[in-house]
Amino acid sequence: MSKLRVLFATSEVAPLIKTGGLADVSGALPAALHRSGVDVRILLPGYPKVLEQLGPHKVVASFDRWAGLPAARLLSGTMANHVPLLVLDCPVLYQREGGPYQNTAGQDWPDNALRFGLLSRVAALLASAETPLSWRPDLLHCNDWQTGLAPAYLHFIPGGAPTVITIHNLAFQGNFPAEIITELGLPASCFSVEGVEFYGNLSFLKAGLFYSDHITTVSPNYAKEIQQEELGFGMQGLLSLRSAQLTGILNGIDTAEWNPLTDRYLTNNYSHARMFGKALNKRALQNRMGLGLESGLPLLGVVSRFTYQKGVDLLLEIAPRLMELPVQLAMLGSGEAALQEAARALSHRYPGRIAATIGFDEALSHQIEAGADIFVMPSRFEPCGLNQMYSQRYGTPPIVHATGGLADSVVDCTPESLKDGTASGFVFSDMDADNLHAAIRRAVSMYFDQPHWKILRKNCMAKDFSWQTSAAAYLEVYRKVLSQRAEHRNN
Ligand code: ADP
Repeated sequence: MSKLRVLFATSEVAPLIKTGGLADVSGALPAALHRSGVDVRILLPGYPKVLEQLGPHKVVASFDRWAGLPAARLLSGTMANHVPLLVLDCPVLYQREGGPYQNTAGQDWPDNALRFGLLSRVAALLASAETPLSWRPDLLHCNDWQTGLAPAYLHFIPGGAPTVITIHNLAFQGNFPAEIITELGLPASCFSVEGVEFYGNLSFLKAGLFYSDHITTVSPNYAKEIQQEELGFGMQGLLSLRSAQLTGILNGIDTAEWNPLTDRYLTNNYSHARMFGKALNKRALQNRMGLGLESGLPLLGVVSRFTYQKGVDLLLEIAPRLMELPVQLAMLGSGEAALQEAARALSHRYPGRIAATIGFDEALSHQIEAGADIFVMPSRFEPCGLNQMYSQRYGTPPIVHATGGLADSVVDCTPESLKDGTASGFVFSDMDADNLHAAIRRAVSMYFDQPHWKILRKNCMAKDFSWQTSAAAYLEVYRKVLSQRAEHRNN
């Protein structure tokens, strides 16, 4: 039987370019599919960082200017994990200083519609009879709004492969003024409720949700939440209508990259059988971040984008109250200026007890996961979340709000769950400062009950968050979509 061919289109892939969880998924899911025998190839824009790290490559196709989309070339290379990579090289759109979506001042690139319109259009072409490549996928897997227009383009190109789109975060939708439709080269007829229109704008994500064969999102709980007004961000109607084609699959984590026994960023590697290394990592972290070298106080860790979604504001608000507890707090993050400033101010007000590093620092994120005793992740909403899974693997029980994937991946510590071996953290409902404070207090008092704390840590580290389970669930979705298409053709 020939291998299933999948084109995985995405705007970021770890370790080449990363702003958040999408990159982690795009690095790990194709690798897991590849190991399962799928012929999967990644399509990614040629940002400077990607081109720098590409290594030996070939130019395999070129695309002419089309509507308002500039000409581009397609380069083929290979990821370090052996997954083939197709890089969309278009210097006028991607060759610039700054991030994938924003300039160095944190403003969205003004031509994002064209930047990701081109990515979507090329994904669609490669998945159609018009592809310039000899390799043609059986299925196109799109991710988030940046590739959301691909199913719309494919709808108008003959011989298109079926499409799956994964929502990593519904809050990011890629909404642009209606006029952009001409530059994107889409027919005016698709600017309607039954198409790409969303409250008067053209929405990349809405397009993907409307035209794709199947929708997935990154946890079963989030799949339910986004069908309701509170977390549906205006898309709840469409998502409920399509609920039969909506599947929640919990993300896995990259267990090679996030392994306390081999983690290259740690001064001391450790495992559940040899936990002494964790204490040494705590000391190294305290040193690095300028915290007091107490070994008896639980160290709370935070690694997060500093945004409203992540609930960091509430944590910062209660930080002075937390200082009445026997704890230290180590924070790493970047995002909204006011939150960054508040975190910095707290570290000045409580030197040695609160430390804040503002920025994006891969090494430090690993060191916090390993060196902290308790991880705090009070997201208001969280499609899946990765850090709570990393922290469990690193024996750092997380405190989480009962939302999205946090509720699917952390089991609240109670006498019963401790006894049956499922307890893996502290889960609180009704997001507010008092409930967060109470959950932290609960975790801290548990920490001082060391025999039980050790059981909790062991439970955490025994959990299986590997991608193989999730990859198998994606394969099932692919197979379902392909068989439905085949059935449709035969009728
Ligand atoms: P999101 O994708 O919403 O930001 P996730 O928990 O799903 O949240 O994934 C966040 C990823 O980004 C994790 O791998 C986390 O370690 C990483 N991360 C977030 N902020 C930082 C930072 N300031 N420095 C290093 N890594 C970070």
